[in-house]
Amino acid sequence: MQTLLFIIVSVLVIAVIIYVSNSQNKKKKQQQNLLYSEFSQEWKSILMQKILFYRNLDAEDKELFEKQLLRFLATKKIEAVSTSIDDTVRLMVASSAVIPTFAFPNFNYPSVRTVLIYPGSFDEDFNTVKHKNHQQFITGMVGNKGLKGTVILSKPDLLAAYNGSRTKHNVGIHEFVHLLDGTDGDIDGIPERLMENSYVGSWLFEIKDEMEVIMKRKSDINPYGLTNNAEFLAVVSEYFFSSPKSFKKKHPDLYEYLVDIFDQEL
Ligand SMILES: [Zn+2]
Repeated sequence: MQTLLFIIVSVLVIAVIIYVSNSQNKKKKQQQNLLYSEFSQEWKSILMQKILFYRNLDAEDKELFEKQLLRFLATKKIEAVSTSIDDTVRLMVASSAVIPTFAFPNFNYPSVRTVLIYPGSFDEDFNTVKHKNHQQFITGMVGNKGLKGTVILSKPDLLAAYNGSRTKHNVGIHEFVHLLDGTDGDIDGIPERLMENSYVGSWLFEIKDEMEVIMKRKSDINPYGLTNNAEFLAVVSEYFFSSPKSFKKKHPDLYEYLVDIFDQEL
């Protein structure tokens, strides 16, 4: 009799567990679907106001862009550290990720889990408070070691990247281009997955040539690009996506390389 009671109770407990977990999964799925299917009018108007890249897309591509933003927002955490964030900031982060990869709709930054938004620029120890004799100059970074899977962006610099005041600088695009560059295993300025092998040699020559022009101070490209090939790619990509027309006019050869790398004619 006791055994029978035990079996009945066990079956009931298992049934309850299955029911609860099913309804939780269903709820989760519903939330996710909601997130994927909805792009509010308010969000569209934020994009129209703030994101030049979006403004320049036709209706069909705008919809595609929105879908890619939703997928990014549904799969990555965006967290504020000692500051606050709103939908404008969230959309700016997601746009920074989607703009360079717009031609590769299946790519969703597999190595990224979290984007941290800092209240300002920071030093190597991630301190945002100014110390004597200590310069703070980092506005964004791709985390490694303990911070693997994390991207850090300074909020005022992210906002400035999309308010029209910075025509060549975009900290968000800079960091996400590093991540795209690193998908072949190395953040080295040569995004092998996006380039044909036969193209790599001439790309390296192009970098060297342009670096020489920057060194002679005859280029309007940010001299930070001289740091190494990876920074060069990130810096010219910021300019390419922020002011494509003037970039094309001033740097026609570089422009063609970037069109080829990102598979986008701007
Ligand atoms: Zn960099």
